[in-house]
Amino acid sequence: MAETPTRACGACSLSCKLLPIAALDKPHDRWCVHCRPGAGGCTIYDTRPDPCRSFSCHWLADASFGEHWFPQKAKMLVQVVAVQDANYDRFVDVHVERTAADAWRREPYRGDLERLAASPRTLVRVFRGDRTFVVRPGETLEVKRA
Ligand code: SF4
Repeated sequence: MAETPTRACGACSLSCKLLPIAALDKPHDRWCVHCRPGAGGCTIYDTRPDPCRSFSCHWLADASFGEHWFPQKAKMLVQVVAVQDANYDRFVDVHVERTAADAWRREPYRGDLERLAASPRTLVRVFRGDRTFVVRPGETLEVKRA
């Protein structure tokens, strides 16, 4: 279920760049062909696919999530996804723009991700380009993308 917005986002449309959308054959970190950033956003809004409809930006939904995570500033987008998994109840997915490179490895982002990773039944994943990482308290593992 999508989180409820608590902040004003300025309609950054970054999700339309960073998220992979299989239904549109859209890869990670490339603008969707249906997006007009800064000029109204989605041009197929009424018929956009389900992943677009269900997406919610965690910075927008959680007022306690630091201002430094504002997507246009951080060059990262965080999505919390509820899952039914033997080991996890939620994935915290961090989608990183290529231009942000390794900012997620440094403070204040790193500490926030480690705190989230220390939460029960929570898996923190970072997607950057074609690389995927799992953040755990005290360590980062690069994993093969499914
Ligand atoms: S279909 Fe619309 S909402 Fe979905 S990624 Fe493309 S522009 Fe964004």
